[in-house]
Amino acid sequence: MPSLYETLGVDKGASVEEIRKAYKSLAREKHPDRGGNAEEFKAIQQAHEVLCDEGKRRMYDMTGSVDGEAGGPPDMGMAAGGIPFSFMGGMGPFGMPGVAFDIGSMFGGIFGGGGGPGGPSRRRPGKAPNKHSDIGLRLADFYHGRELKLKFNQSRKCGTCAGTGAEKSEACGPCGGRGVRMMTRMIGPGMMAQSTGPCDVCSGEGRRVMKQCMNCHGKRFLEREKELTVQIKPGMHDGQTLLFAGECSETADYEEPGDVVLTLRRADAPAEGAEGGWEWRGADLHTKVRVSFGEAILGFRRELADHPSGAPLVVEWRNGPITHLTVLEAEGKGMPRKEVPGTFGKAFVQVLVSAPEARTWTTEERSQLRALFGITGADVGSEGGAVELTRGS
Ligand SMILES: [Zn+2]
Ligand SMILES: [Zn+2]
Repeated sequence: MPSLYETLGVDKGASVEEIRKAYKSLAREKHPDRGGNAEEFKAIQQAHEVLCDEGKRRMYDMTGSVDGEAGGPPDMGMAAGGIPFSFMGGMGPFGMPGVAFDIGSMFGGIFGGGGGPGGPSRRRPGKAPNKHSDIGLRLADFYHGRELKLKFNQSRKCGTCAGTGAEKSEACGPCGGRGVRMMTRMIGPGMMAQSTGPCDVCSGEGRRVMKQCMNCHGKRFLEREKELTVQIKPGMHDGQTLLFAGECSETADYEEPGDVVLTLRRADAPAEGAEGGWEWRGADLHTKVRVSFGEAILGFRRELADHPSGAPLVVEWRNGPITHLTVLEAEGKGMPRKEVPGTFGKAFVQVLVSAPEARTWTTEERSQLRALFGITGADVGSEGGAVELTRGS
């Protein structure tokens, strides 16, 4: 039998919104009025009803059945995927400021403490989902490397009570310490249903607090300020991820906290096709410079101020005429290579040649230029019978 999640075609970690959306489109497709199978439609409706109800969903996740009867195996699946964050909002075009900054409770308590007065909860085995976040960096940060301090609030089990919240506790009576019990509840006027679920007396913990822990005041988890040091080393690339194992908050929902996964992102990339600025591909850098028609013939010199090394890159070309879109290169002026530390890729400079202003040459200039460029034969304009071209518009 497919799980309720499979029935709706959603992940186990799907949000209520995602579930509703999946339900709506399936219900439209499989409605009996449209020739759908009535049983299948009923299953879709039931899956939607259970998964959109927080309590019912939790019970289903724990018992693997909807009505509490010995159903399928308990569904111990973990929420899939992570919660996307971005550090880049409000950071300006250059990503992060140079000093440590507070990302607040970004990694803390996202999934809530659980097990508190909010409702029954029982710790699921395994590791909590990872939290993902982007770090916006300048090209220069990737070039030189950089160390960043990330501060956030991280919850950890109270050491005094080992996360039980109790200085003294005893086995819960109603569930016999098992944390799960059969309960009867009203599902409609005069209709009762029995279901197995987390014990409502002990919130599924199996133990009852006799005396609260004085250290955490029964909260079981304590928040502390955590600082992670992020080392961006030369040769790391845009899109690279750094993993900090187990640095998410510990919660009542999982045995182990998730990992913090940071993705390095370049925040100062030039717009597509822009002149100036450096595009970064592999270990190479690419830029465009505009030169005049005369410079295309005689050579040019440019100071490229925004090179990620921090020093302006002065480039020069004096080896003969070049055409529009010619790509020139400078060895060792690209980005650090990861494979061979201390070495660098190339800088590529694409030349955009501007057309000269419209002008008429004198007879003397014409003959000089013709000699210079080795143009022989009759000069243009000296013979008739041609269709004259114009510059167009
Ligand atoms: Zn109990
Ligand atoms: Zn405690």
